[in-house]
Amino acid sequence: MTLHQTNLTTAELRAIDAAHHLHPFTDTKGLNAEGARVIVKAKGVHLWDSDGNQIIDGMSGLWNVNIGYGREEIVDVVAQQMRELPFYNTFFKTTHLPAIELSRLLAEVTPPQFSRVFFTGSGSESNDTIIRMVRHYWAAQDKPGKSTIIARKNGYHGSTIGGASLGGMTPMHAQGGLPIPGIVHIAQPYWYAEGGDRSPEEFGLWAARELERTIDELGADTIAAFIAEPIQGAGAVVIPPATYWPEIQRICRERDILLVSDEVICGFGRTGEWFGCEYFGVQPDIMAMAKGISSGYLPIGGVMVTEKVAEVIANAGDFNHGYTYSGHPACAAAAIANIKILREEKIVERVKSDIGPYMQKQWLALGDHPMVGEARMVGLIGALELTPNKKTRASWPVETGTVGLIARDFSFQHGLVMRATRDTLIIAPPLVISHEEVDALIAAAKKTLDDSWAEVKRRGYV
Ligand code: PMP
Repeated sequence: MTLHQTNLTTAELRAIDAAHHLHPFTDTKGLNAEGARVIVKAKGVHLWDSDGNQIIDGMSGLWNVNIGYGREEIVDVVAQQMRELPFYNTFFKTTHLPAIELSRLLAEVTPPQFSRVFFTGSGSESNDTIIRMVRHYWAAQDKPGKSTIIARKNGYHGSTIGGASLGGMTPMHAQGGLPIPGIVHIAQPYWYAEGGDRSPEEFGLWAARELERTIDELGADTIAAFIAEPIQGAGAVVIPPATYWPEIQRICRERDILLVSDEVICGFGRTGEWFGCEYFGVQPDIMAMAKGISSGYLPIGGVMVTEKVAEVIANAGDFNHGYTYSGHPACAAAAIANIKILREEKIVERVKSDIGPYMQKQWLALGDHPMVGEARMVGLIGALELTPNKKTRASWPVETGTVGLIARDFSFQHGLVMRATRDTLIIAPPLVISHEEVDALIAAAKKTLDDSWAEVKRRGYV
């Protein structure tokens, strides 16, 4: 149903939503007291709500609408695919044209070591697949003891039991008895919050060597893999110091541990490279993908593996794993069209050499605001750390997240979607954003900071 097909008012729509819809990651009572914002259409980098407000989508939906909204080519190929073959599975010795073409395209756009893909429906499903796949990989080589997976505190890998267990989000672990056994979490490379007196370079090495210490303590013969996001997204856009990833690569290679890069946010151009691991110059064995693979036009994900990993799995008989929608034809068709747009319009290159640097310059300048402890950005993914004291990077004298929410609400009022993670503001606009739209986004972000600063002073938080 579109808004054109309903005569309901915003208040009526909100009431129905409140009565029947449980939202993800939401305090339902709090939301229903306020009423959900009803989004009715989108074009390019803009959203419109049911009251007619136009808003810049500074978060690309949920970090996924990389090519922006309203690309008719995708609508057309999906409609065509649904007429021809809306569904068939890829189990039981069958395949279909979209799955064939998408797997070849992925082998082309991913780093050279990758050759094969296992299709999933989402990032969570990709990471659940990885848990089973890496254990199967070692068991197939007569090393079933190599089964523990090392992940990181404050990492995010999804909401399924496996994904949430790999993730290091304590509020998620507190619900539903997580994590599952066999997953160990180590320190994250979050210099602003945890670096203390160390330089970013020293801290990056220290955080990477937590992996080394943990592997050596547990024994490399018990460890299957290390999984991490190149840049932690949901954790608050944690950009590791330059020393971190090369050291992680060395440690995994020396100890024969599979290196898994969760590219669900960083993949498909977000960092100005096709994949985040390329930005940091590392060569993982496995990548989790979703979101930007189809720019969110339809849900699809995948696990990309090197030829070496694929060979072991290929020679180990049945891999007893798969989803009804693994390689769904319409979703695969959307992903193919999306990747072609990214490639033909050189959108990733544009992030690296044009719009990325253009936005970074203005975003990093927001770091001069009295309320900002650190402004950081790579490609088109960034954050602002809000603090009452720039020098000491102090936290606020109220419950964590209070100031973040104040700022996020001002941001909406100024026509910009930013996300607040604790007291950090997050930005990740569509990769097709124009120079003028960046200027408008930065102007709204500045107003947001000014109004938030006035508000925290009024409330006596500084
Ligand atoms: N991994 C990362 C790095 C993510 O950011 C997310 C989603 N935000 C996921 C996995 C889970 O993806 P999905 O929500 O599609 O299951």
